[in-house]
Amino acid sequence: MNYSVVTLKRGKEESLKRFHPWIFSGAIANMDSGIEEGDTVSVIASDGTPLGVGHYQIGSIAVRMLANPGTDIDKDFYGSRLAAAYGLRKALGLSRPDNNAYRLVHGEGDFLPGLIVDVYGPTAVMQAHSPAMHYARDIIARSLVELPGAGIENVYYKSETTLPYKAQLDPQNDYIIGSYATDVAVENGLKFHVDWLRGQKTGFFVDQRDNRNLLRSFARGRRVLNMFCYTGGFSVYALDGGAEEVHSVDSSAKAVKLTDENVQLNFGNDARHKAIAIDAFKYLADMEHGRYDLVVLDPPAFAKHRSAIKNALRGYQRLNARAMEKMPSGSILFTFSCSQAISREQFRLAVFSAAAQTGRRVRILHQLTQPADHPVNIYHPEGEYLKGLVLYIE
Ligand code: SAH
Repeated sequence: MNYSVVTLKRGKEESLKRFHPWIFSGAIANMDSGIEEGDTVSVIASDGTPLGVGHYQIGSIAVRMLANPGTDIDKDFYGSRLAAAYGLRKALGLSRPDNNAYRLVHGEGDFLPGLIVDVYGPTAVMQAHSPAMHYARDIIARSLVELPGAGIENVYYKSETTLPYKAQLDPQNDYIIGSYATDVAVENGLKFHVDWLRGQKTGFFVDQRDNRNLLRSFARGRRVLNMFCYTGGFSVYALDGGAEEVHSVDSSAKAVKLTDENVQLNFGNDARHKAIAIDAFKYLADMEHGRYDLVVLDPPAFAKHRSAIKNALRGYQRLNARAMEKMPSGSILFTFSCSQAISREQFRLAVFSAAAQTGRRVRILHQLTQPADHPVNIYHPEGEYLKGLVLYIE
């Protein structure tokens, strides 16, 4: 295919040569007339050297690079990238009868910038973050159900909130292929209802899988507080790990209901568990000292943009201090930030400040991140977003 051409300014090919997949609008010298948002384009250097093909959109990130020069971005292209992505998940042991919930495509981390696909058993939930991925949604959906071995039968498209608002694409959340099958997915042998129709993001946070598993190994005999529980992932693992009691807290009544349902699904009526709908800061303020000796803090992203970093760091510090000051000696804190705009160092500094402020002796037992089905392209460090610390509090 001969795609329309985008020519870069002199010297602006350098980051592409280092495989960074984005071209910012300021790097572009000129573009063929008639290029429209969502088009596939050929990118060339100022001296005419072909650099590759990518998806064009209006905005600060103008082109998201996909492949080498001359590659056709067609069904074969998507099929082979998806097969490679599935091959990795298979090799990681994530697609198996007792674990069928995993991220199949993590954008740039799977060389498919602008595309997210999470798999829950027979259903794939797909999110486009770029207009071009939106236009390619039917081809991608067909490639997903044709992936050998993956067992995907239904593809639900959920891009109402992820596509650039200004592009006016007016996407409808709906099944592209198939329809509702089951909403129960299995993660490390534990079952979860996943509500992709009404839930946040694709319905379940598969990115905490490894960290939940680690929490399970700390839970025996402990009194657990799972703050910001959402679907109750950490709660279910804590109960499975032999916790003495587990309290799940979320400001959303819907989340509390989901958590109760997921506990029920795995353990029936389990008297060890209680879910409470209340604001986190209010709950921590009223909580008695020494009440819980294993606490999870997994809040929503406090900084959605760079401009919000300072306030977000203050928020993380305050949240962690409120929890730490009431934890008994010998307790364990799992604390997270999923804000992409906040670095690992910044988060650690916020937690350090919380520790110093409360005067507790705190040691780091584990430093956590996102799991292997959320791979980070080494040339695209922006893909790393989840950070966590497991702390021992004395
Ligand atoms: N830990 C969860 C994911 C948390 S998502 C998991 O493993 O899947 C963040 C959750 O925080 C959402 O469910 C949201 O309803 C809740 N939340 C947001 N603000 C809150 C607040 N001020 N107090 C309590 N919960 C809050």
